[in-house]
Amino acid sequence: MTSVVKRSLSLEKAALVLLFLFLSACSPAPEEIIQFSGETMGTTYHVTLRNPGDLRAERLKQQLDYQLAHFNQIASTYIDDSELNQLNRAPIGEWQQLSEPLYAILTMAMEVSWLSAGAFDITVAPLVDLWGFGPVKREGRPSDDALADVMERVGYTRLQLDMLEPKLMKSAALSMDLSAIAKGYGVDAAAIWLASLGVKDYLVEIGGEMRVAGKSPRGDAWRIGVENPAGGGPQLAIALGDIAVATSGDYRNYFEQDGVRYSHTIDPRTGRPITHTLASVTVLDPSCAFADAMATALSVMGTERALALAEAQDLPVYIIEKGEEGFVSRYSSAFAPYLPKE
Ligand code: ADP
Ligand code: MG
Repeated sequence: MTSVVKRSLSLEKAALVLLFLFLSACSPAPEEIIQFSGETMGTTYHVTLRNPGDLRAERLKQQLDYQLAHFNQIASTYIDDSELNQLNRAPIGEWQQLSEPLYAILTMAMEVSWLSAGAFDITVAPLVDLWGFGPVKREGRPSDDALADVMERVGYTRLQLDMLEPKLMKSAALSMDLSAIAKGYGVDAAAIWLASLGVKDYLVEIGGEMRVAGKSPRGDAWRIGVENPAGGGPQLAIALGDIAVATSGDYRNYFEQDGVRYSHTIDPRTGRPITHTLASVTVLDPSCAFADAMATALSVMGTERALALAEAQDLPVYIIEKGEEGFVSRYSSAFAPYLPKE
């Protein structure tokens, strides 16, 4: 039995998308531009802003690092005593008090779960562990018995959020994983913070999820490259107003066993990694948290159902699929205005 194991980080994805951005930023820039970057959530972040006034990159980076560290202390499954992990260990059937950021991200996660009929489900945490994509790395397929056992502890409908107060109750031994929405939430938080400092033109990116506002260093719209899964640079360049972009792709983090590729995106209804032919899903939305979570939800749903939901929600979505003769792209009506003009 041969077993090939391959993993890679979303760092690569971020690097490629940004490479393209920096290329487009190389033209003469009369205004003052500042850029800084760092590490968070197991990946990297990058910020570019235009006309910073009195703001200085070093100080901004210090403040953002501090805020991201604080957010990780709330929402990371990789920090043992994070607020999320404490909640994961909390007893069943008792209301638990939440911090405001955790309440906000959980509310958004639940909205995407309901919209996608459970294709997005943060209670996949034990499945993520079982398949070895969580804090404890493990390779190979679990047994059917182990899978059935873990499925007893999955299901967002058994999570209850209070409508008015930041409180949550679990009605089963559930644990939550926010990896598919946290980067987007972090991007939104950073964007809102920059706007509060009076910055009008910025790009914030964490692990490939990004949000832009105003103008790019060239003085026109920000342009983002959607990566070609076959390699060789961007497949599509889109010009954006004030909006966020998130991409899910099965070709970044996976393992292979006996010729089958196991993606880190799991179908919570079957408990198994997705296996269909979808290579990447890109979603545009004012909220990066929503776009991030939706990109994962649509990946789980597969092309046809994903496009049907995108049409129903009037959501701009661009999908790259593996066809018999290479990669094929499909998009929703709301994405059409973003396509480059012929
Ligand atoms: P991608 O960029 O491919 O969307 P993300 O990092 O945004 O990847 O999200 C993938 C992570 O989300 C997985 O590693 C896992 O922790 C978690 N996850 C996997 N499947 C689901 C799902 N169906 N719903 C919510 N979270 C998921
Ligand atoms: Mg995601």
